[in-house]
Amino acid sequence: MKDYLVKALAYDGFVRAYAVSATETIAEAQRRHETWNTASAALGRAMVGSLLLGSTLKGEDKLTVKIQGNGPAGAIVVDSNGRGDVKGYIKNPQISLPLNPQGKLDVRGAVGDQGIFTVIKDLGLKEPFSGQTPIVSGELGEDFTYYLAVSEQIPSAVGLSVLVETDDSIRAAGGFMLQIMPGASEEIIDAIEKRLGELPRVSTLIDEGQSPEEILATLLPDTTIEVLEKMPVQFHCDCTKEKFATAIITLGADEIQAMIDEDHGAEAVCSFCGNKYHFDETELAALKKEAEA
Ligand SMILES: [Zn+2]
Repeated sequence: MKDYLVKALAYDGFVRAYAVSATETIAEAQRRHETWNTASAALGRAMVGSLLLGSTLKGEDKLTVKIQGNGPAGAIVVDSNGRGDVKGYIKNPQISLPLNPQGKLDVRGAVGDQGIFTVIKDLGLKEPFSGQTPIVSGELGEDFTYYLAVSEQIPSAVGLSVLVETDDSIRAAGGFMLQIMPGASEEIIDAIEKRLGELPRVSTLIDEGQSPEEILATLLPDTTIEVLEKMPVQFHCDCTKEKFATAIITLGADEIQAMIDEDHGAEAVCSFCGNKYHFDETELAALKKEAEA
């Protein structure tokens, strides 16, 4: 089944509920970056969280999530938007750590437990919105939750899960996000907290093959869930050869001449999707002319 995200209201609109199935999306990222298991879980969780966060935006609006922890994974950077597109990369894709004491992939060990969690939103305004919080967990679900609470003042619960097979392929990926709106009663908040405390891990729900609608029904059994929208989600990179050409021009004429003289061409690799773009000497000469113009 194709990946999709569900946006819904619960508790008479006092809770916004989102859930997403993203197995194929994360599988494509894994294949493109050839991530090893712990790195797959770290990058995958960051991508699922960014899809959930991005789904609160309008179609053309976009956001970037940057996670810069002190772990061996290095920086994780993910772009998403209001249309369900997501792309991302992890600085060191070849991370495979021993399982943590709970027998799970050690995402905290890969990401680190200290660092900076940044969200930059481009809402089509003059200035992008930027919010920053410290990394509080490194498992990433709690870090998204903390960011929402502190930077956007939205009490939330975020659950992210990526299950990896022994051959490094992605078995299942998905997550949920609950946001409590102003005016929600103590009863609603207590009911949700109690429910989250007694729930099986989100990974279990994902592994059972629960759909986004089923995940929300499992999370919130005591309320009517009003589905507002179902949106397909996908790995999508918008890089083009023209964009890389523009980037090469900004390097300047001397630098381009050096590429011609020393390398007789240039190859640009997109860090988000791994696509390669080759520029031969003739193309570089044309770019050099533009740089001089
Ligand atoms: Zn790309």
